[in-house]
Amino acid sequence: MPSFFDTRIEFIKGVGPQKAALIGAELGLFTYGDLIQHYPFRYEDRTKFYPIEDVHADLPFVQIKGRIRKMETIGEMRSKRLVAQFEDETGIIELVWFKGIQWVTKKLQLGVDYVVFGKPAAFGRKINIAHPEIEVLTTQNEKASFLQPVYNTSEKMKAKYLDSKAISKMIRQVMLLSENHIYETLPEKLIGQFTLIDKKLALWHIHFPGNDELLAKARFRLKFEELFFIQLRLLKLKLTRIEKYRGAIFNDSSLLTDFYNHHLPFDLTNAQKRVIKEIYFDMKSGRQMNRLLQGDVGSGKTIVAFICMLLVVGSGAQASMMAPTEILADQHYEGLKYYADLLGLKIRKLSGSSKRSERNEIHAGLLDGSIHILVGTHALIEDIVQFKNLGLAIIDEQHRFGVAQRAKLWAKNKEFYPHMLVMTATPIPRTLAMTLYGDLDVSVIDELPAGRKPIKTLHEYDAKRLQVFGFMKSEIEKGRQIYVVYPLIEESAKLDLKHLDDGYESIRRAFPDVHISIVHGKMKSQDKDFEMQRFIKHETQIMVATTVIEVGVNVPNASVMVIENAERFGLAQLHQLRGRVGRGAEQSYCILMTEYKLSKEARVRLETMVRTNNGFEIADVDLQLRGPGDITGTQQSGVLDMLIADLSKDAQILQLARNAASDTLDDDPNLTKEENRNILRQIKSLKKTTVNWGRIS
Ligand code: ADP
Ligand code: MG
Repeated sequence: MPSFFDTRIEFIKGVGPQKAALIGAELGLFTYGDLIQHYPFRYEDRTKFYPIEDVHADLPFVQIKGRIRKMETIGEMRSKRLVAQFEDETGIIELVWFKGIQWVTKKLQLGVDYVVFGKPAAFGRKINIAHPEIEVLTTQNEKASFLQPVYNTSEKMKAKYLDSKAISKMIRQVMLLSENHIYETLPEKLIGQFTLIDKKLALWHIHFPGNDELLAKARFRLKFEELFFIQLRLLKLKLTRIEKYRGAIFNDSSLLTDFYNHHLPFDLTNAQKRVIKEIYFDMKSGRQMNRLLQGDVGSGKTIVAFICMLLVVGSGAQASMMAPTEILADQHYEGLKYYADLLGLKIRKLSGSSKRSERNEIHAGLLDGSIHILVGTHALIEDIVQFKNLGLAIIDEQHRFGVAQRAKLWAKNKEFYPHMLVMTATPIPRTLAMTLYGDLDVSVIDELPAGRKPIKTLHEYDAKRLQVFGFMKSEIEKGRQIYVVYPLIEESAKLDLKHLDDGYESIRRAFPDVHISIVHGKMKSQDKDFEMQRFIKHETQIMVATTVIEVGVNVPNASVMVIENAERFGLAQLHQLRGRVGRGAEQSYCILMTEYKLSKEARVRLETMVRTNNGFEIADVDLQLRGPGDITGTQQSGVLDMLIADLSKDAQILQLARNAASDTLDDDPNLTKEENRNILRQIKSLKKTTVNWGRIS
């Protein structure tokens, strides 16, 4: 049954099919429901009139009341403008128009009382307001006690008189009609607990705030509600899975003990041990594991993954590990093969470049169970890849993969879904993790292996290049290796290569006796491989590369990372790149090269890198700078499209909402209690509109 809120906006008085179509095309708003959830993105303060003598250029917007004393057009051609002297009892200010002069001149009259609103600016010693809003004073606008909502519109809409005010009017009409249709969506208990205002009131004051305090209450209430239902969905998803999906039980740890006692080349950190225990507990529990493993670069996630594989393989099943790039898959394969050989396990690698005959052989080996461990790129999730008994699927550097890929891995075992371990490359801020992976259990490695010296990070301007080259020389003489990384310039692959080639040339000239590798995305993968291997084997001392080396690559002897045009990289990427050094016992360095001229944001990024090595701290700054959508990449941003909550600002509300959702489900897992009827009704209505709710039965 269609509800009142499904009514199409063309039926609003004064709208009609044409305008409605335009609004739909420009803003994606089609129904009454869409419209009243089109919240203002800011508010103009119309709560007071400023006396003109108090108006100065630092005020954001001001509202004043008075009369025009004089109007004249001055200047010629492009500097032609209409200037009006506007006065009240306390002083005079100038109003200026550069466009629409004729029209404004006709409309305005001397001696009439007007309300003027705009941004004051200093012009020499005078203060003026350019292109102000101006209306005849009425009993209504004289009260001056409101915050004017400002809505997103578009140029096309404004051309058809659909400006912010017009939208506000439409919303007012709908709100007045919807009196008997807006239901409370939260249970009384939560409303009391968090002293929330009710839904109807919140909607009213978000659009037509009575005052600051009511606006703040409306915002809090709507943000809380939005986050509450997101968290409820995620927690419910988790609960359903726990109830529904049994997991295979793996508890034969003999293989693992063998490895631990005879082959493990170092002591695990306490954090690694704790995480392994958490994972073991899951895999013995009879429930399917879905766990996120967070750990800073270099914290040793790979060995944790391998040890978990051993429990699975030792218990007679198979394990897989998927990496986002070929280079990384290679590296994992090489690293794990060394251990696997010691234990007599069969491990293979599958990627886009695997030959046909090799593929066939791998497919067969996976099916008959003779291959124990498969490492690969996303070639590994293709349907043709089938296992005899996949017990554990690991995804490394998850932020490059989407949720859909996770699901594909699930489907690779028909009897029991495989246990899933998702490892992130870079720490994610808590608010994001709670939302993107809110349905997973989370483990954190919050400790680096002993003996690591913190990487020293320096920011140098290009003018210092000779000194930097000198420093590189002295490090090479000490036997170290060096990365020099150039940015990818997405608009132009050609420019990219030129950048890289020029850099390579200048380094070759500066280091005539040194062997240099070069790796970039346009190379054939065999050539890439060959160059990587030369560097890994220490046949070359400098690796010149684009960001293809960003993730995961591990060469402990490399102790210097030089990043060219560092201002072009995002924080997460810089941190990832820096993580390529500092893996051995030597003091390592990261040198960020830039020109003098930098944007404010770029400066914050560079300063952050110099200040801290802590990935969680860096992730937080990144979130503040870029907002949640960009951080995670496009694949998952859909989950983060929120109407009013903002993960970079609303961490506290999110935590409250998460706790509230968790308490609610603890008390009433199926939401069948009478007191939760509002929740259930809201879920039903959300299910109609949001894909994500549909997954829950
Ligand atoms: P990441 O968490 O970034 O994937 P890796 O798994 O690549 O990190 O580990 C980085 C390096 O640290 C590797 O050379 C690995 O062998 C080494 N390593 C891992 N754990 C320890 C440990 N407990 N003690 C010493 N070195 C370790
Ligand atoms: Mg790694």
